[in-house]
Amino acid sequence: MTGVFDMAIIGGGLAGCSAALHARLKGASVLLLERGRCGGQASGVNYGGVRQQGRHPAELALARRSRAIWGDLKNLIGTDCEFTATGHLKLARNDDDMAELIAHHLLLREQGIHTLVLDADDLKIRFPYLSSRYAGGSFCAEDGQANPRLVAPAFARAARKLGADIRENCRVITAEPSSDGFLIRLDGDPKVVKARRLANTAGAWGSAIAAQFGDHVNEMVMAPNMCVTEPIAPLIGPNLGVCGGGIYIRQTAHGSVIFGAGLGIADREHLRARPLAEVTMEAAAAAITMVPQLRNVLLLRSWTGIEGRMPDGLPVVGPSPTVEGLFHAFGFSGHGFQLGPAVGAVLAELCLDGHSPTSISGLAMNRLDRALATVVQS
Ligand SMILES: Cc1cc2nc3c(=O)[nH]c(=O)nc-3n(C[C@H](O)[C@H](O)[C@H](O)COP(=O)(O)OP(=O)(O)OC[C@H]3O[C@@H](n4cnc5c(N)ncnc54)[C@H](O)[C@@H]3O)c2cc1C
Repeated sequence: MTGVFDMAIIGGGLAGCSAALHARLKGASVLLLERGRCGGQASGVNYGGVRQQGRHPAELALARRSRAIWGDLKNLIGTDCEFTATGHLKLARNDDDMAELIAHHLLLREQGIHTLVLDADDLKIRFPYLSSRYAGGSFCAEDGQANPRLVAPAFARAARKLGADIRENCRVITAEPSSDGFLIRLDGDPKVVKARRLANTAGAWGSAIAAQFGDHVNEMVMAPNMCVTEPIAPLIGPNLGVCGGGIYIRQTAHGSVIFGAGLGIADREHLRARPLAEVTMEAAAAAITMVPQLRNVLLLRSWTGIEGRMPDGLPVVGPSPTVEGLFHAFGFSGHGFQLGPAVGAVLAELCLDGHSPTSISGLAMNRLDRALATVVQS
């Protein structure tokens, strides 16, 4: 039996690594258990979009707090992880989309997030490489992009440097409540680990960890289909998206164009995911439709990753409804990279202070029971 940690974390994605760092910044003893390598799953293979724009109101406080952390990464973890505020431009296909963008602009303004609503002529002047098919768009200058490969490992390194016990290739088999916290059993290690508080940041496997405590939710799996081209001369400034989801495109500082659309397939039990050739071809066609100059650019590679998806498209972030001292953060449904830094900060606060100044009330696990009850009653 090891000593008792103030906080243990299951899962070394961005949420877990950030939680470890923030817990150490509060002076707590912290143990992070990662089955593979930190950032080896969704946090390391995603598209790299860092946007507040387009989020559900329940996520905006977290997104706002995360944006402040993204801007301060160099101070916090010693590297900016290629985070650049290139802006995020969301395009409207028609007048209905424009109305949606204007309504969202007003909602974001209440949260202190500023967007600029642009008409078709503005788009032509500011983004001449875009197809002329769009009715307008909404530009959020402080949104941007980062290199996902770098971020979770950098948080883990910073946490370790401050004294966090970060264990990679260390799979949690079982976790259970005990009289003074939690008992955690690890694969291939007879010693039981003890912690006073437990954070479940196990990504697409978060619901399986939660179920060990009787917290049952329907977390499905999704695998966004991603593509990258050869490097080309600077062309695309902001991170681009379109109302209704569809295609998203960004260009890195090295020149590669990264885009995504549609879904590949994932087998979370066997840790396997792969993009689908026909989806990749459709994504390439959609990218050319948005930015016609991509027509003769060489597509180098496609890939995907394993992401948890909740029925309402929102993550679970907050205390377990049944077990004291247990906190969940999983099921980010394709958009948890931007949120990760703040999710970790909030988890550290919940575990160590008992409360967080950041509102997460709309992300509580029991909202899913209520939604089910409403369906059953109606
Ligand atoms: C292809 C793709 C593109 C995406 N694009 C974007 C984007 O542009 N912007 C955005 O905001 N979001 C994006 N997302 C979503 C984003 O990547 C995820 O929401 C986010 O990274 C989730 O972070 P996490 O820390 O919760 O989970 P993960 O990164 O999945 O980490 C969970 C970790 O838990 C570990 N684990 C699981 N079970 C155990 C166990 N029993 N014991 C020990 N460890 C365990 C896993 O090995 C894993 O490393 C995308 C996702 C994918 C897959």
